[in-house]
Amino acid sequence: FNTQRFGQHILKNPATAQKIVDAANLKPTDKVLEVGPGTGNLTVKILEKAKHVTAVEMDPRMAAEVIKRVQGTPEQRKLEVIIGDFVKADMPYFDVCISNTPYQISSPLVFRLLSHRPLFRVAILMFQREFALRLVARPSTALWSRLSANVQLYAKVDNIINVSRNDFRPPPQVESSVVRLVPIDPPPPVKFEEFDGMNRIIFSRPNKTIRGNFQAKGVMKMLEQNRRTWLAAQEMMNDDASIASLLDKVLEEVECTETRASKMDVDDLLKLLAAFHDVGIHFS
Ligand code: SAM
Repeated sequence: FNTQRFGQHILKNPATAQKIVDAANLKPTDKVLEVGPGTGNLTVKILEKAKHVTAVEMDPRMAAEVIKRVQGTPEQRKLEVIIGDFVKADMPYFDVCISNTPYQISSPLVFRLLSHRPLFRVAILMFQREFALRLVARPSTALWSRLSANVQLYAKVDNIINVSRNDFRPPPQVESSVVRLVPIDPPPPVKFEEFDGMNRIIFSRPNKTIRGNFQAKGVMKMLEQNRRTWLAAQEMMNDDASIASLLDKVLEEVECTETRASKMDVDDLLKLLAAFHDVGIHFS
């Protein structure tokens, strides 16, 4: 039985399972998406409160187990189990997502949920403690990172429950935390690839100045190429302005000549990105 491969650590503490489900404040009309139901310890508690659950489970044996668990109960018709990899599966409509998934898919899980439309109301998600702390980190603290900024662009994130290794069978190597994610609705009208592309550069060394990070190998060349492509697409003449001089102009304009990404909040980052776009500097 390969528990390693699927990251199977079953949540054995019923009080913790109940706390997780309660944190979602489920309404009787809610459709819930659960990723990786395993043997169904969360699933049965969700089914008590919600109208419908779609559970995506990669391991067919686990899928069979959760189906068996509700068979012959009134909850049976409220549960649909999709066997497959969540990262590739089609997503159903859902109001709420509750999930204790393997930690290997933490990042794709978060970004898949946030890019899904229509937006969900809330997600309650279990992560490795370090990952959770990076999700909720604030600017000017040690864990503020590209991940924090990218997620907080789209959602309000809180660390709501710390979960001990001993609540699981078998216990994982690491401590866990449950995070609540509430999407910002409507989402900011910015292309994610642009925001992330800029962050990739300026957070590569968060304590270095933005200007310093742009000096890294290949960055100017890539931006030059992007700018040429962008000018051509706008049917604008190539003005041969150097990225270095445009960069200095932008940094002066937004008063960021000595600024480091480690101190910038999402609004600062959005302002900086808009100023780059104004001079035709694009990141994707
Ligand atoms: N949710 C259950 C619980 O709390 O007891 C099980 C948790 S266990 C950490 C993770 C579950 O996700 C396992 O059942 C595993 O088979 C499943 N899983 C792993 N990778 C998956 C993926 N990419 N898509 C869907 N399910 C996955």
